[in-house]
Amino acid sequence: MRSWAKVEERLAGLAGRYGYSEIRTPVFEVSELFVRAVGEATDIVSKEMYVFADKKGRSLTLRPENTAPVMRAFIENGLHRSGGITKFWYQGPMFRYDRPQAGRYRQFHQFGAEAIGHAGPAVDAEIIDLSLAIYRMFGFTGLEVRLNSVGCPVCRPGFREILTSALVSMKDELCDTCGERAALNPMRIFDCKECGDIKEKLPVITDHLCDECSEHFSGLQSILRGMDVDFMLDPLLVRGLDYYTKTAYEVLHPGLGGQNALCGGGRYDGLAEECGGGKIPAVGFSAGMERLMENLPEEFAGKLGLDPVDAVFILPEESASAEVLRIAGELRSSGVSVSVDLSGRSMKKQMKVASESGAAFAVIIGPEEIEKKEAAVKILASGGQESVPFAGLTAWMIQERKKVD
Ligand code: AMP
Repeated sequence: MRSWAKVEERLAGLAGRYGYSEIRTPVFEVSELFVRAVGEATDIVSKEMYVFADKKGRSLTLRPENTAPVMRAFIENGLHRSGGITKFWYQGPMFRYDRPQAGRYRQFHQFGAEAIGHAGPAVDAEIIDLSLAIYRMFGFTGLEVRLNSVGCPVCRPGFREILTSALVSMKDELCDTCGERAALNPMRIFDCKECGDIKEKLPVITDHLCDECSEHFSGLQSILRGMDVDFMLDPLLVRGLDYYTKTAYEVLHPGLGGQNALCGGGRYDGLAEECGGGKIPAVGFSAGMERLMENLPEEFAGKLGLDPVDAVFILPEESASAEVLRIAGELRSSGVSVSVDLSGRSMKKQMKVASESGAAFAVIIGPEEIEKKEAAVKILASGGQESVPFAGLTAWMIQERKKVD
């Protein structure tokens, strides 16, 4: 948890430096939100949602993703009326009934960001840049950015027809699931791990984009090049959520095998309307926290150990505990971190544990010290020892801590 907390703190700081503020949404929502937003024919909605009925029989779902909840909250709270671009980041648990394996869990965590309110490709570029900044900050190298445009409601129906007719002659080559997808949601076939070779033979959406999508896509590419962001065009990239329009992208870690996507996102210009909020363009990404934590480069992971306390209090006898806890409280309220060893183990053992803890000081207070109103303080780095009056202990420790730092 220490490592997670430190990484989360860094992520919040990063998003803050990009001008994004935090949003927290409930862990469950009405099921209808995900069915409409993510899409009925997607794996997430058709197979992976944790759906339950509440006491009034309403269908609720543990959130499988957070873009739809963020948009729902944005509209429900009237934030769309303020105009401009609203920028949010979030982090928290998501739930998908998926086959658990390395890097894939049924409860997992995502950190993500959403920029709501503007259609221009520069916002897409900022989102991509922010997601890459995460991995830069933690020292990742060799990551790949795969970029595509998945079109919009103007050009997608035409492409769907072209794709459907191409699939007619390939029906026998498709896996069973894609056989069903061919009729319901043919673009999902690009997402299939089994139908690898067939995908290469299919027409691709980027050859059939409308003028607006085409202009947006080339605009985004030229901004990314201007920012020195490396990317690869991947016309086979579709994402597992139907709300994407125009931009779709993923950040891949080539060393990871099967679950190699660290992060993914794109534009979702139609989602606000699905949520009852009118035409509000938006773009965002979501990054898997487990995949980030499990693959942190050594150099950074090594810095994520425990933060030692400043002082460990050692009790030769339990009878000293009231006085020790009182003094420890005084120190803590002045910002000195203190751990009191209440284990009752031998002095020798307590001292050994304190020395190995990385603390700067071991403070011994027993009946003798209470009598004299002086603590015996051991400076662990140098092995030096001093008697410090209780009354001056806080000031002494703050002073000495500066020297140790
Ligand atoms: P998605 O919401 O499907 O676009 O996924 C965004 C990112 O979340 C992925 O790139 C993964 O890093 C992470 N992710 C998605 N599903 C899971 C899962 N079941 N377990 C762990 N991480 C996941």
